Amino acid sequence: MTLQQVWMESLLSEPVRPVRAAERSTSCGCDDNGRPDHHDRLLRVESDIGELVELLEMAVTWGELDWSRSEVVPPHRWVDFALCHSWKDPATMERIFSLATDVAARSAAGTGRGVDAIGV
Ligand SMILES: [Zn+2]
Repeated sequence: MTLQQVWMESLLSEPVRPVRAAERSTSCGCDDNGRPDHHDRLLRVESDIGELVELLEMAVTWGELDWSRSEVVPPHRWVDFALCHSWKDPATMERIFSLATDVAARSAAGTGRGVDAIGV
């Protein structure tokens, strides 16, 4: 089993941690609310360094792993996700999600799947 497979399994098996009521997707009407677990994890990127690392790991490995059966918000949605939610530091969050999107696109391009692959 490769390190990436171990990471993928840990990501998919990680229990959903409690979130504050203000962060719950049930009160969010955005386009990504249909993937509530990942949606809520993305909301924690600003306050939880572990979630930020998970986002960047997902971006780096986006072109190498098969996410087609995972209920995740795909990279082509990450900038819109940042723009559609409230943050303490909106400019920095837009930069983080934009950077992650660029990394995912480069990861997909590196596999020969092309930039369009970031849109599952
Ligand atoms: Zn939302």
